[in-house]
Amino acid sequence: MYHNEFIADKLASVNRIVFFTGAGISAESGVPTFRGKEGIWQKFRPEELANFNTFLTNPNLVWEWYQYRRRIIRSVLPNAGHLAITELQKLKLATTVITQNVDNLHKRAGNNNVIELHGNIENNYCIECKKRYDNIEFINNNTVPLCECGGKIRPDVVWFGENLPPGVFQSAEKAVLECDVFFSIGTSSIVYPAASLPILASRNNKFLIEINPNETELSYLFNVVIREKSGEVLPKIVSMTKEKSGSNEK
Ligand code: NAD
Ligand code: ZN
Repeated sequence: MYHNEFIADKLASVNRIVFFTGAGISAESGVPTFRGKEGIWQKFRPEELANFNTFLTNPNLVWEWYQYRRRIIRSVLPNAGHLAITELQKLKLATTVITQNVDNLHKRAGNNNVIELHGNIENNYCIECKKRYDNIEFINNNTVPLCECGGKIRPDVVWFGENLPPGVFQSAEKAVLECDVFFSIGTSSIVYPAASLPILASRNNKFLIEINPNETELSYLFNVVIREKSGEVLPKIVSMTKEKSGSNEK
């Protein structure tokens, strides 16, 4: 398709690329959304479970929900979209991934320079002393684990009403300001401050590409819009970019 060719030409000629991603890039891996029909969890709203006050009053309920979601996420694999980013990074070392996902699939696919705006479901920290527990510990804990200081240990994800981790958004803004091409993939662009990143890219005259089967709130900002699934179109764009970069070197 002509737009893939056009984008491949563009990518071959630049160095700094940003991939800004949302739940849609994991859709083809089979990661269920919050609002699936998942047995007992249907009785609770994600806004209630992904919430610090609920964690304080009913820590085991929140912990159990995260253990359930972790088991699902570990049972799926990164898809061709995630893997295409790894391939492109071999060619374009200054490629940054800024993700709203907490599912760890970018890292499992081998992506580098991943900025996780909303944390990572595999990581944990103590709510009292902030000690981190990052190595898939507590894999079999059905109840909330306690830190050596006695504090409760929570998943390292940003809950409703919470701020992003300090410095993380600033790193994302820096990557956007420094980039040549900005991709937005699989995000409805309604969750702020994340959704302000495409706006920042547009205001700074970056070349913007949206990959999403559906129109989004911010589609009007983009130079090129691709209404396809990321796992189908990204591998094509990356292999074309490789061919073009190879021929440029000769
Ligand atoms: P969203 O659910 O609001 O939007 C998903 C977007 O992906 C939609 O616009 C949809 O059209 C698009 N899409 C669906 N299939 C696609 C495909 N194959 N290829 C490309 N695009 C596709 O997701 P969001 O914008 O990320 O916002 C939801 C919030 O919920 C975020 O804050 C995120 O942290 C959280 N969340 C994360 C996960 C995860 O980690 N996988 C899952 C659910 C929700
Ligand atoms: Zn502690």
